[in-house]
Amino acid sequence: MKNNSKTFAVFGNPVEHSLSPLMHNAAFEKMNIDARYVAIRAEKARDILTEIKKSNIHGASITIPHKTTVMEHLDESSDSSVRIGAVNTITCSNGKLMGDNTDWTGLILALRESMEIKGKVFAILGAGGAARAAIFGILEEGGHPIVLNRTTIKGKEVAREFGCDFYPLTEIGKIKGDCLINTTPVGMFPDMGKSPVSRDVLQNFRWVMDIIYNPLKTKLLKDAGEAGCSPITGVSMFVHQGAEQIKIWTGLRPPIDLMKKVVMEKLRNERD
Ligand code: NAP
Repeated sequence: MKNNSKTFAVFGNPVEHSLSPLMHNAAFEKMNIDARYVAIRAEKARDILTEIKKSNIHGASITIPHKTTVMEHLDESSDSSVRIGAVNTITCSNGKLMGDNTDWTGLILALRESMEIKGKVFAILGAGGAARAAIFGILEEGGHPIVLNRTTIKGKEVAREFGCDFYPLTEIGKIKGDCLINTTPVGMFPDMGKSPVSRDVLQNFRWVMDIIYNPLKTKLLKDAGEAGCSPITGVSMFVHQGAEQIKIWTGLRPPIDLMKKVVMEKLRNERD
């Protein structure tokens, strides 16, 4: 590696199966940026900051379970990440650590590829970090999110904070809307036979998005196709959140089509 080469990393636990190194390294190569992007397992949020400073890491992606706990160790965080309560992007500049959230922009850019958001009603399944990013983004775009969660107390609290309605997840059958978005991990590899809701409720929505991208076609999305809905996979969100990170770190426009291609190829090969 040359001296002026920059290092980037994704920190998480587990992180070994992350597709971010594949996607970001392909983008940097195409952009002729002398950089490498690696996956680093971090037990504690504090370890991330130590490693960033020790290894002179220029930018980092943060994934499960550190998106919230890492915030207290940063010098500054963007307004959107403070409102969402989670950081998935860190930039190290002049020794200072700045936090951002690109999950919400990733989700919005992915939704925009399929539908207009303004004025539409969204049923959000889940009330964790990804749900908060979805709710924040949809509100920013003039949409109307409704929160549905397994644990009532947590779902009610998130709904109250963002000024939305709440329903227990078991009452999804009562909800009619434009788009249903799954932000729970139900249906993710290896539990691919599961869906967070039964198929008969899907006819109440025109679009169904699953932010899970492994597998590419979850049971929820298969059911959605059979119910006549337009399915939206989680791959676009994943690619856009990564592309927005590259924009923050470099100020340059990333090769989104290439990033999507390498991720799709990898996911398709894994299933074959
Ligand atoms: P999180 O903070 O742990 O939240 C998970 C939510 O799912 C909670 O509301 C939890 O409900 C609910 N949940 C978990 N297991 C459930 C079950 N068996 N039945 C019903 N509800 C259940 O996780 P997160 O950070 O939001 O991430 C959620 C998912 O989004 C993960 O699969 C992650 O990989 C994915 N994600 C994708 C992207 C992308 O770019 N495509 C980006 C970020 C995240 P309770 O409150 O009842 O526990």
